Amino acid sequence: MNNPKAIYERPLEEMIGKLLDMGIKDFSVIDAVRRVPRHIFIDEALRSRAYENMSLPIGYKQTISQPYIVAKMTELLVRNSENKNKKLGKILEIGSGCGYQSAILSYFADEVHSVERIKQLVNKARENLSELRIYNVLIKNRDGFDGWDEEIKYDGILCAAAPPEVPQRLLSFLKVGCPLVLPVGGSKSQKLKLVTKTQKGFEEEEFENVAFVPMLGGTSK
Ligand code: SAH
Repeated sequence: MNNPKAIYERPLEEMIGKLLDMGIKDFSVIDAVRRVPRHIFIDEALRSRAYENMSLPIGYKQTISQPYIVAKMTELLVRNSENKNKKLGKILEIGSGCGYQSAILSYFADEVHSVERIKQLVNKARENLSELRIYNVLIKNRDGFDGWDEEIKYDGILCAAAPPEVPQRLLSFLKVGCPLVLPVGGSKSQKLKLVTKTQKGFEEEEFENVAFVPMLGGTSK
């Protein structure tokens, strides 16, 4: 094990191949996935499976999302924002988990604000991101239904836990023309959705079936 990074190079490339096969088209997204070592975010016992295209447990009954879904949601977010080819100003993420999706998002915005309801996961995500020297992601232990700060309007919001329906409150934290990407539904059936805020209200587009942990109210210390 002279160079631990080299051990993961091949599985990472295989995973990238899978994401391309599954329809991820945006090369800036592929590039970000290539730059973030997923094994850092996964407990040692499961690390050999870090580059399989599947969700894995991260403790506290939560999971790190499937790489394809992380890439797909990031693609929907960056391709549908007002400034398509420019770096975004601020992105809000709901459900930091272990911080993997936050690390990917860090390449697309000046600042990522991420909220997580489980205190221990806030600490875990902060540790993981500082190990990767990613400093433009701020994490708070907070109920995502309340967003980050009423005063801030975001260029995009990505929600990594499934509410039963689109939370109208989250739309109030968006700039006009900007997207909210999220899974919506209960434990039996969920759809990935893109909701874009318009002058008059919002527009909704539906994508594939997904399986996320539920978005729960309140925080757990
Ligand atoms: N994107 C994460 C995966 C997150 S799993 C990653 O890459 O690892 C979903 C996370 O959402 C869980 O950690 C869960 O605790 C959190 N969550 C659920 N409901 C929430 C809420 N209302 N506010 C904030 N976080 C929430």
